[in-house]
Amino acid sequence: MTSQQQWLRVCKGMVLAFLMGVGIGVAPASAKTLNVMTTTEDLASLAREVGGSHAQVESIARGYQDPHFVEAKPSFLLKLRKADLLVLVGLQLEVGWLPPLITQSRNARIQVGAPGYLDSSSVAAILEKPTGPITRAMGDVHPLGNPHYWLDPGNGRRIARAIQQKLAQLDPEDAAYFEQRFQDFDRRLQEAEKRWEQQTGSLKGTEVITYHSSWPSFTERFGLRVVGYVEPKPGIPPTPSHTLEVIKQIKQDNIKLILVEPYFDLKTPKAIANQTGAEVLVLLPSVGGVPAVSNYFQLFDYNIRLLTDALARAK
Ligand SMILES: [Zn+2]
Repeated sequence: MTSQQQWLRVCKGMVLAFLMGVGIGVAPASAKTLNVMTTTEDLASLAREVGGSHAQVESIARGYQDPHFVEAKPSFLLKLRKADLLVLVGLQLEVGWLPPLITQSRNARIQVGAPGYLDSSSVAAILEKPTGPITRAMGDVHPLGNPHYWLDPGNGRRIARAIQQKLAQLDPEDAAYFEQRFQDFDRRLQEAEKRWEQQTGSLKGTEVITYHSSWPSFTERFGLRVVGYVEPKPGIPPTPSHTLEVIKQIKQDNIKLILVEPYFDLKTPKAIANQTGAEVLVLLPSVGGVPAVSNYFQLFDYNIRLLTDALARAK
């Protein structure tokens, strides 16, 4: 054997060893990355949990914006044009701004009813569903039931499951990867739910006033009771006569907390607080409401700490 032949044998051996090394310990995952657009940062956080490195996820609305009223910027069109999957809250939460974006994106993959269109409300437990005919008396913005349902971790789990199933459908090669990501998320969510259950023990039965009806899923899950709203009806700004009624109610029932979403004017809540001694608390309905709250778990940690601290002060 010449030295050249020996050298060739060494080279072949090295190539073989390299190929085997690549094959060992690496899960059979594809190099595919799905483009996922969500309407809110809560859905984006859940999509990142299950999508991992096989999904590039971005939200249209920011967590400090009122999700009912988002400016439909043209820059979103370009992003929607490239999307493989669009995840939305539904129940008309985004009705004021999302439909034209979907149509104008001219992306067949994410049109209503297409495989890349996921309305999360189809899998979530929905509160305040209208039983009779829909009337204006229900307010302007919640005609099909309460759309702020992601604030129940049980719904967070259901949404994550639905996203995982969609991702697996759009990228079957990575189905096992998405399933494993969901299982891991589910396990961490179960642990967090135990912690939140303990932490909210002191909150059970606490009566609160909230600005908008953003919280029924949260309060039902953790045992608080919403007994009134700063808005006379969902989406209708405060009126002097309704504000007087709220003040009367707070005094009568000795209510300690007024919960306000970060995108509402604090003028009326503060005026009510001045008249009654109740405390105004800016609670976050969404991930991204403040920079420190950047995922679904932190959202509950933040709000529960704020509530328990405030209640401790009030006692
Ligand atoms: Zn609302």
